[in-house]
Amino acid sequence: MRGPYHPDLYDVARWPESWWRASAPPPPPRPPLEGDATAEVAIIGAGYAGLACAEALAGRGVDVVALDAGEIGWGASGRNGGIVGLSSDKLGTEALVARFGEDETRRYVESQVEGARRLRAFCDAEGVETQGDAEAYVAHTPAVFERLGKWREARWGVEASLLSREAYAERGYVGPEQHGALIVRPGFGLHPMQLAQARARAAERAGARLHPRSEVRAWRREGATHRLETARGSIRAGKVVLATNGFTPDGLHPAFDGRAMPVLSMIGVTRQINQAEMAAHGWREDAPLCTTRRMLYYFRMLPQRRLLFGMRGDLDGSAASAPRFAAHLRAHMARMLPEWRDVELEHFWRGPVCMTRAYRPAVGRLPDDPTVFHAFGWHGSGVNGAAVAGRLLAAVIAGADEATIPAPWRGLPPRIPLPGLRKVWLGGMLALYRAKDAMEAR
Ligand SMILES: Cc1cc2nc3c(=O)[nH]c(=O)nc-3n(C[C@H](O)[C@H](O)[C@H](O)COP(=O)(O)OP(=O)(O)OC[C@H]3O[C@@H](n4cnc5c(N)ncnc54)[C@H](O)[C@@H]3O)c2cc1C
Repeated sequence: MRGPYHPDLYDVARWPESWWRASAPPPPPRPPLEGDATAEVAIIGAGYAGLACAEALAGRGVDVVALDAGEIGWGASGRNGGIVGLSSDKLGTEALVARFGEDETRRYVESQVEGARRLRAFCDAEGVETQGDAEAYVAHTPAVFERLGKWREARWGVEASLLSREAYAERGYVGPEQHGALIVRPGFGLHPMQLAQARARAAERAGARLHPRSEVRAWRREGATHRLETARGSIRAGKVVLATNGFTPDGLHPAFDGRAMPVLSMIGVTRQINQAEMAAHGWREDAPLCTTRRMLYYFRMLPQRRLLFGMRGDLDGSAASAPRFAAHLRAHMARMLPEWRDVELEHFWRGPVCMTRAYRPAVGRLPDDPTVFHAFGWHGSGVNGAAVAGRLLAAVIAGADEATIPAPWRGLPPRIPLPGLRKVWLGGMLALYRAKDAMEAR
């Protein structure tokens, strides 16, 4: 695999060490694709989106195969923060209503609320570790707190309650950038690797075939069908789903070239925090937290009393630069949680989230080839949304109208101009966001 970052990031033999890998069993052995095979539907990418789509298709009796370049959970689905939230866009509800109307926006929001409830039930049934019953948006300035109530309004199944700085301190966290919080439900934390593995089991139980270590290197049309080629085999399928998100390669299918903007995010997990240290930050919160900065921080106290701290990553991605960026992350963690500045990180890893030029996900079928489908662009919030999209897409493949996909998600985003310069555009955008955050903090 290749992409805009260092080749190490795309090397499936380099599966980043993480708390999630250390605390979950290795995936059971599954064979790569060997020889020539056929399927009604072939899915490229076996993360939450591809696996949910495979499970839903197989459940409808469709012969489906999902291929992944790495092991199950190698992609973002095995290395994220495990925060279950309600939006996979960067536009916000008001902008979506203005553009797509109230009905379509409501359908989108309700699909996320329903998705979060369904995900919780799935985790409970499959023994996936979950935690908390909300997501907290922590205001990083008093001025932002004043506007916070508008962020996630309590409508369309979303519950939202605003807590002052004092009330949130009472609930569970004190820090220099805590100026009150919005508590949103449904929301929770989960173990992402356990979830990826459970989704793979569920897809296989339904009848899907999964082949890890099977990177699709070429995609050709053969009359009415598609031929996907891997290093050791190939598959002929009537329909293809692209579910590669932050790893979406240019050069595989021309319709997708230059559509995805992968942005690195990085996570550190500390050693266990002791009771005295917990008390120093008044920590009682078991829900995940996100700050309101544009360059946001996200953090959770895991059930094992280890802090998971995440933030936007670097523009490099090489294995050699990991210690440098782990130190960088630790400095940011100390800014938010100064009492824990000496608490060591035991795990550090990175991975790409996927943005688009439309600032919203891209779910649907190609207008000029109704046998090609896609689901990507979760903007760093796909633990819930990617599976919702996988199921919506399965219904469309099985015959439902494409309009069953809520309009804010439907279609392809515009291409990124001169996609070879993605990192330059991104560097500029991040600098702008940092400047705006700094101005807001003054
Ligand atoms: C560090 C980090 C923290 C995050 N934290 C959160 C969070 O707390 N909450 C949240 O909601 N979201 C979070 N996200 C985002 C979330 O993980 C993703 O949105 C979600 O996992 C996307 O699922 P997916 O199935 O679309 O993609 P992925 O899980 O990335 O799966 C795509 C797969 O495609 C495969 N692939 C690519 N090219 C090919 C090819 N040519 N052939 C075969 N396979 C291929 C890759 O190997 C990969 O496994 C985070 C992401 C990262 C990286």
